[in-house]
Amino acid sequence: MTLLSVQNLEVRHGLLRAVRDLSFSVAEGEVVAVVGANGAGKSTLMRAIAGAHGPAGGRIALDGTDVTGRRAHERVAAGIALVPEGRRLFADLTVAENLLVASRARRRGPWDLAAVVAAFPLLDGLLKRRAGNLSGGEQQAVAIGRALMTNPRLLLLDEVSLGLAPIVVDTLYDSLGTILTGGTTVLLVEQDLGRALGVARRVLCMLEGRVVLDEPAAAVTREQVVDAYFGLGRATVTTVREEPA
Ligand code: ATP
Repeated sequence: MTLLSVQNLEVRHGLLRAVRDLSFSVAEGEVVAVVGANGAGKSTLMRAIAGAHGPAGGRIALDGTDVTGRRAHERVAAGIALVPEGRRLFADLTVAENLLVASRARRRGPWDLAAVVAAFPLLDGLLKRRAGNLSGGEQQAVAIGRALMTNPRLLLLDEVSLGLAPIVVDTLYDSLGTILTGGTTVLLVEQDLGRALGVARRVLCMLEGRVVLDEPAAAVTREQVVDAYFGLGRATVTTVREEPA
């Protein structure tokens, strides 16, 4: 069953078309990685799906319901949760307060404070600490936990690895492991191609606002994704039609 459907999406920053006529869908329970060079439009796409940035055209549907006109908090209530690039925590609030803020928009489901701490053991003992005083990895765990607290049907992860040491990223992905394999539908932006291909069932590569490759992760090589990433046109598996600029 299709959970997320994005059709002919167009998102602009002023005159810049950051996302152009972009279409794809994500099945329930699927983990899809979005890769692409800096400025390809990945974060803009994630923000548009979450309702943080209004599209100039196209349609976004969750489980068949058109949510394009809905505001961000209404999309959270519908089951879409974004872990934004840069985490955006409330630095002066404690970890527990950051997590509980999200639970105001909570849907029914398994995620609560105890479940988040169980999934992210590095938060154990930190609930009363100010979020601004945490390390980058701890802050990222809080940001993911905050999204989980809403009990999302679709979890959007935007560059959870950004700026973190590889060992910290390993720890986060260990914690994400059960989430990524546990049936939650996940769309994740990940710069580390190896990691993206390792955790995702499908990989979607963006170039200049468009999807230039959309394939099962097992069906593409790293080289093919890299070619699509840089627009080299050597990838033989692209399914996307070419359009004039
Ligand atoms: P990165 O990996 O660097 O985050 P990205 O693939 O996520 O890149 P976006 O951040 O979505 O790409 O940016 C897409 C395009 O939109 C880029 O050309 C960027 O400069 C531009 N852009 C992004 N945010 C804004 C903004 N707030 N105002 C103006 N232009 C923006």
